[in-house]
Amino acid sequence: MINMIKGDITTLKVDAIVNAANNSLLGGDGVDGAIHRAAGPGLVEECRKLGGCPTGEARITKGYRLPAEWIIHTIGPIWLGGSNEEDRLLSMCYKSCFELVEQNGITSVAFPSISTGAYGFPIERAGRIAFKEMCNFKSNHESIEVIAVCFNDHVYDCYRKVMKETR
Ligand code: ADP
Repeated sequence: MINMIKGDITTLKVDAIVNAANNSLLGGDGVDGAIHRAAGPGLVEECRKLGGCPTGEARITKGYRLPAEWIIHTIGPIWLGGSNEEDRLLSMCYKSCFELVEQNGITSVAFPSISTGAYGFPIERAGRIAFKEMCNFKSNHESIEVIAVCFNDHVYDCYRKVMKETR
């Protein structure tokens, strides 16, 4: 089962939270800005050493001042109409994050709705991809807690609809 909650991902006491970052990994708006503000300046220092990240891949850092021990930074695709590999790249984000979850012995991980803010990915379509990848992972890793975090009512309502469809 995937847990779904409404709220601010920076407050969660889980092993890892996922950041919807940009290719520079140096911080930005939206959830990325909130995570950098809450984690403090140690985060950008560590990120600088990583030298960026391509779209669809993921990198892990410590959580610094966050309640979460780790931050998994992934770069979602910018929505360009849907025929520019957006779906495949968004799936890749979730898969890349789950690889790091496995490699680092993480037992609970929370995801924001990657690409659906500034990057403009339609939320229902993104939600279907997110739930497909989360359910795939859960089917082989029953004991790892996976949380879908919805920042506002709109994301929450779309996710709830998608979850009902996939049940
Ligand atoms: P992207 O550039 O990948 O679209 P955004 O941060 O602009 O990233 O938006 C991604 C999603 O994160 C949006 O659905 C937005 O509502 C959500 N979001 C923004 N701030 C937070 C937060 N503090 N916790 C959880 N989700 C958030």
